[in-house]
Amino acid sequence: MDAPAPADFVTIPQAEAEEAVRTLIRWTGDDPTREGLLDTPKRVAKAWREYTKGYAEDPGQHLSRTFAEVGGYDEIVILRDIPFQSHCEHHMAPIIGKGHIAYLPRSRVVGISKLARVLHGYARRLQVQERLTAEVADCIQTHLDPVGVAVVIEATHACMSARGVMTPGVVMTTSRMMGVFRDEPSSRSEVLRLMGK
Ligand SMILES: [Zn+2]
Repeated sequence: MDAPAPADFVTIPQAEAEEAVRTLIRWTGDDPTREGLLDTPKRVAKAWREYTKGYAEDPGQHLSRTFAEVGGYDEIVILRDIPFQSHCEHHMAPIIGKGHIAYLPRSRVVGISKLARVLHGYARRLQVQERLTAEVADCIQTHLDPVGVAVVIEATHACMSARGVMTPGVVMTTSRMMGVFRDEPSSRSEVLRLMGK
Protein backbone atom coordinates (compact mmCIF):
# COMPACT_ATOMS: atom_id res chain seq x y z
CA MET A 1 0.00 0.00 0.00
CA ASP A 2 2.83 2.36 -0.80
CA ALA A 3 1.90 5.81 -1.98
CA PRO A 4 2.17 6.47 -5.69
CA ALA A 5 5.28 8.43 -6.63
CA PRO A 6 4.75 12.19 -6.26
CA ALA A 7 5.78 12.61 -9.90
CA ASP A 8 2.48 11.04 -10.96
CA PHE A 9 0.69 14.00 -9.41
CA VAL A 10 2.81 17.07 -9.97
CA THR A 11 2.92 16.53 -13.72
CA ILE A 12 -0.73 17.59 -13.90
CA PRO A 13 -0.81 21.38 -14.27
CA GLN A 14 -2.80 23.26 -11.63
CA ALA A 15 -4.78 24.94 -14.42
CA GLU A 16 -6.30 21.56 -15.25
CA ALA A 17 -7.45 21.08 -11.67
CA GLU A 18 -8.88 24.61 -11.65
CA GLU A 19 -10.81 23.88 -14.84
CA ALA A 20 -12.28 20.78 -13.21
CA VAL A 21 -13.47 22.89 -10.27
CA ARG A 22 -15.05 25.38 -12.72
CA THR A 23 -16.88 22.47 -14.33
CA LEU A 24 -18.10 21.28 -10.93
CA ILE A 25 -19.38 24.77 -10.06
CA ARG A 26 -21.24 24.95 -13.38
CA TRP A 27 -22.60 21.46 -12.83
CA THR A 28 -24.06 22.51 -9.45
CA GLY A 29 -25.98 25.28 -11.22
CA ASP A 30 -23.83 28.26 -10.28
CA ASP A 31 -21.79 30.61 -12.44
CA PRO A 32 -18.00 30.33 -12.05
CA THR A 33 -17.55 33.77 -13.65
CA ARG A 34 -19.45 35.67 -10.97
CA GLU A 35 -17.25 37.72 -8.67
CA GLY A 36 -17.52 35.61 -5.53
CA LEU A 37 -16.49 32.46 -7.38
CA LEU A 38 -13.78 33.87 -9.64
CA ASP A 39 -10.84 32.86 -7.46
CA THR A 40 -12.51 29.76 -6.05
CA PRO A 41 -10.97 27.23 -8.46
CA LYS A 42 -7.48 28.46 -7.57
CA ARG A 43 -8.24 28.30 -3.83
CA VAL A 44 -9.77 24.84 -4.13
CA ALA A 45 -6.77 23.52 -6.07
CA LYS A 46 -4.36 24.92 -3.48
CA ALA A 47 -6.45 23.53 -0.62
CA TRP A 48 -6.52 20.08 -2.20
CA ARG A 49 -2.79 20.15 -2.72
CA GLU A 50 -2.52 20.68 1.03
CA TYR A 51 -5.20 18.14 2.03
CA THR A 52 -3.36 15.50 0.03
CA LYS A 53 0.25 16.45 0.60
CA GLY A 54 0.83 13.08 2.25
CA TYR A 55 1.25 11.60 -1.24
CA ALA A 56 4.50 13.52 -1.54
CA GLU A 57 6.02 11.99 1.58
CA ASP A 58 6.96 8.62 2.96
CA PRO A 59 5.58 8.77 6.52
CA GLY A 60 8.07 6.11 7.57
CA GLN A 61 10.89 8.62 7.15
CA HIS A 62 9.72 10.30 10.38
CA LEU A 63 10.69 7.12 12.21
CA SER A 64 14.15 6.80 10.68
CA ARG A 65 15.87 8.64 13.53
CA THR A 66 15.55 6.43 16.60
CA PHE A 67 17.17 6.43 20.00
CA ALA A 68 18.53 3.22 21.44
CA GLU A 69 19.34 4.77 24.83
CA VAL A 70 16.09 4.61 26.76
CA GLY A 71 17.45 4.43 30.31
CA GLY A 72 15.92 1.06 31.01
CA TYR A 73 12.45 2.29 30.10
CA ASP A 74 10.33 -0.71 29.22
CA GLU A 75 6.77 0.56 29.53
CA ILE A 76 4.17 1.69 27.01
CA VAL A 77 4.82 4.91 25.12
CA ILE A 78 1.54 6.57 24.23
CA LEU A 79 0.35 9.68 22.39
CA ARG A 80 -3.34 10.39 22.94
CA ASP A 81 -5.90 12.61 21.26
CA ILE A 82 -3.86 13.53 18.17
CA PRO A 83 -6.17 15.67 16.05
CA PHE A 84 -6.17 14.92 12.34
CA GLN A 85 -8.10 15.63 9.16
CA SER A 86 -8.41 13.36 6.21
CA HIS A 87 -10.75 12.90 3.25
CA CYS A 88 -12.73 9.80 2.43
CA GLU A 89 -11.88 8.24 -0.88
CA HIS A 90 -15.53 7.52 -1.68
CA HIS A 91 -16.85 11.10 -1.52
CA MET A 92 -13.71 13.22 -1.04
CA ALA A 93 -15.51 14.51 2.04
CA PRO A 94 -13.74 15.43 5.30
CA ILE A 95 -12.95 12.86 7.95
CA ILE A 96 -12.23 14.65 11.22
CA GLY A 97 -11.03 12.87 14.28
CA LYS A 98 -8.46 11.91 16.85
CA GLY A 99 -5.83 9.21 16.85
CA HIS A 100 -4.33 7.39 19.82
CA ILE A 101 -1.02 5.68 19.15
CA ALA A 102 0.93 3.46 21.53
CA TYR A 103 3.85 1.11 21.33
CA LEU A 104 5.86 -1.00 23.71
CA PRO A 105 9.53 -0.47 22.73
CA ARG A 106 11.82 -3.42 22.24
CA SER A 107 15.07 -1.48 21.96
CA ARG A 108 14.36 1.73 20.07
CA VAL A 109 12.18 4.78 20.63
CA VAL A 110 11.44 7.89 18.56
CA GLY A 111 10.70 11.49 19.44
CA ILE A 112 7.06 11.43 20.52
CA SER A 113 5.93 14.06 17.99
CA LYS A 114 7.00 11.69 15.21
CA LEU A 115 4.02 9.46 15.91
CA ALA A 116 1.70 12.35 15.07
CA ARG A 117 3.66 13.02 11.89
CA VAL A 118 3.15 9.43 10.77
CA LEU A 119 -0.61 9.78 11.32
CA HIS A 120 -0.71 13.06 9.39
CA GLY A 121 1.38 11.64 6.54
CA TYR A 122 -1.20 8.93 5.91
CA ALA A 123 -4.22 11.12 6.76
CA ARG A 124 -3.32 13.68 4.10
CA ARG A 125 -4.38 11.32 1.36
CA LEU A 126 -7.69 9.98 0.15
CA GLN A 127 -8.49 7.36 2.74
CA VAL A 128 -10.83 4.94 4.36
CA GLN A 129 -10.53 4.95 8.14
CA GLU A 130 -9.76 1.25 8.35
CA ARG A 131 -6.76 1.54 6.01
CA LEU A 132 -5.51 4.71 7.72
CA THR A 133 -5.49 2.82 11.03
CA ALA A 134 -3.68 -0.17 9.55
CA GLU A 135 -1.11 1.94 7.70
CA VAL A 136 -0.10 3.86 10.84
CA ALA A 137 0.27 0.65 12.86
CA ASP A 138 2.16 -1.19 10.12
CA CYS A 139 4.53 1.75 9.64
CA ILE A 140 5.45 1.78 13.35
CA GLN A 141 5.81 -1.99 13.39
CA THR A 142 8.12 -1.94 10.36
CA HIS A 143 10.38 0.89 11.49
CA LEU A 144 10.62 0.40 15.27
CA ASP A 145 10.12 -3.36 15.56
CA PRO A 146 8.44 -2.86 18.95
CA VAL A 147 7.01 -5.56 21.23
CA GLY A 148 3.54 -4.24 20.49
CA VAL A 149 1.69 -1.49 18.60
CA ALA A 150 -1.82 -0.19 19.27
CA VAL A 151 -3.58 2.36 17.10
CA VAL A 152 -7.13 3.56 17.78
CA ILE A 153 -8.79 6.14 15.57
CA GLU A 154 -12.10 7.86 16.27
CA ALA A 155 -13.57 10.06 13.58
CA THR A 156 -16.68 11.60 12.13
CA HIS A 157 -17.27 11.38 8.40
CA ALA A 158 -18.82 14.36 6.65
CA CYS A 159 -20.17 12.02 3.98
CA MET A 160 -22.37 10.52 6.73
CA SER A 161 -23.19 13.66 8.69
CA ALA A 162 -23.81 16.10 5.82
CA ARG A 163 -25.45 13.86 3.23
CA GLY A 164 -26.87 10.39 2.71
CA VAL A 165 -28.12 9.01 6.01
CA MET A 166 -27.55 12.41 7.75
CA THR A 167 -26.32 11.23 11.09
CA PRO A 168 -24.36 14.10 12.65
CA GLY A 169 -22.25 13.25 15.66
CA VAL A 170 -21.80 9.58 14.87
CA VAL A 171 -18.24 8.58 15.68
CA MET A 172 -16.59 5.65 13.97
CA THR A 173 -13.89 3.82 15.90
CA THR A 174 -11.26 1.59 14.33
CA SER A 175 -8.30 -0.11 15.94
CA ARG A 176 -5.28 -2.15 15.03
CA MET A 177 -3.48 -4.15 17.70
CA MET A 178 -0.18 -5.89 17.00
CA GLY A 179 2.25 -7.99 19.04
CA VAL A 180 1.49 -8.17 22.78
CA PHE A 181 -1.49 -5.83 22.40
CA ARG A 182 -3.09 -8.41 20.13
CA ASP A 183 -1.91 -11.56 21.88
CA GLU A 184 -2.06 -10.73 25.60
CA PRO A 185 -5.40 -9.65 27.07
CA SER A 186 -3.72 -7.90 30.04
CA SER A 187 -1.46 -5.78 27.78
CA ARG A 188 -4.41 -5.02 25.55
CA SER A 189 -6.61 -3.83 28.41
CA GLU A 190 -3.74 -1.79 29.85
CA VAL A 191 -3.15 0.10 26.60
CA LEU A 192 -6.88 0.67 26.12
CA ARG A 193 -7.10 1.99 29.69
CA LEU A 194 -4.19 4.38 29.02
CA MET A 195 -6.02 5.52 25.89
CA GLY A 196 -9.06 6.23 28.04
CA LYS A 197 -11.12 3.55 26.30
ZN1 LIG B 1 -17.39 8.93 2.22
